[in-house]
Amino acid sequence: MKRKTKLIHGGISGDPHTGAVTTPIYQVSTYKQEGIGGHKGFEYSRTGNPTRHALEELIKDLEEGEAGFAFGSGMAAITAVMMLFNSGDHVILTDDVYGGTYRVMTKVLNRFGIDSTFVDTSNLDNIKGEIRENTRAIYIETPTNPLLKITDIKGASQIAKEHNLLTIVDNTFSTPYWQTPITLGADIVLHSATKYIGGHSDVVAGLVVVNSKQLAEDFHFVQNSTGGVLGPQDSYLLIRGIRTLGIRMEEHEQNTREIVRYLQSHPSVTKVFYPGIESHPNHELAKRQSTGFGGMVSFDVGSGEAADRLLNKVKYFTLAESLGAVESLISLPAKMTHASIPEDRRAELGITDGLVRISVGLEDIEDLMEDLEQALK
Ligand SMILES: *Cc1c(COP(=O)(O)O)cnc(C)c1O
Repeated sequence: MKRKTKLIHGGISGDPHTGAVTTPIYQVSTYKQEGIGGHKGFEYSRTGNPTRHALEELIKDLEEGEAGFAFGSGMAAITAVMMLFNSGDHVILTDDVYGGTYRVMTKVLNRFGIDSTFVDTSNLDNIKGEIRENTRAIYIETPTNPLLKITDIKGASQIAKEHNLLTIVDNTFSTPYWQTPITLGADIVLHSATKYIGGHSDVVAGLVVVNSKQLAEDFHFVQNSTGGVLGPQDSYLLIRGIRTLGIRMEEHEQNTREIVRYLQSHPSVTKVFYPGIESHPNHELAKRQSTGFGGMVSFDVGSGEAADRLLNKVKYFTLAESLGAVESLISLPAKMTHASIPEDRRAELGITDGLVRISVGLEDIEDLMEDLEQALK
């Protein structure tokens, strides 16, 4: 099956009981048993629900893994993945991971003895340098937010295998439409499905796919024990979102390409960050491990004041956190998503006050370009 077909025919199609062509919303918590333990595969909806199951089968197929799991948010998914580890274990993570990931590792999971180190994983030597006796996993986000740095998934997975570590990839920015980390050697892939997978700014959800029977069994045990599962309504909305993921991602990318070209030639823009640009330090790697560069772009307008002026003038770019939906969004990482990172650390990472991040939506490109043009004047 080709990619766009798999989005529509992957997983479980339709409802075998009624012939309905979409999986219905099974708004149900428990299931009748024909005698003790005699059931049709479902006994209680924390353990399994038919609508959630349809979504989990679909994401499993898309990521080419062994089993899929749906959670109430991306953070619930990430936290559950970390529950595979024990007190005393150590995880190496990408230094500019999603702020919530940094927070849960350093303010919550550290209290349970799970230790973490953050390095620039776009240089694989940095990973090797941090592996300790108690290291259990390498956790990569690629591309990163907001600087769109790229880590070599295959290279990192090889290092992990040599040291008997798990490779975990946050695939939120690329989605399985552009990038399938399991095919590059990763063990676990996860998503904030709140973003491109849902795609319409109406669901908060997380997804996980694992690559082996053993991990599937261990991880289902964690999911069922900790219980942060996704409800049937939201599972349905994600399945609905996934059906159009292909055409959305293609269109996001096409709009983004035009905007990047425009920003590169604009005199008030000092720098543009996008893996699709040939001068991006990891452009060749991005081309090799992904089939698309995505719809996220960051650019520097020189100062916090200039960034503020831009934000106040745009009409179609909504000032908001989040990304990956049909409507274009704009944000100022230094004052929003990355405000909790100390200023000197932000400077080290290259997140300046003039750095603007946009999530390019699916509006008509001419309107988006005109909007940026008048706002940048
Ligand atoms: C938003 C996001 C998360 C967290 O997901 P929620 O659904 O907001 O809990 C994790 N990783 C990345 C890359 C994200 O963008």
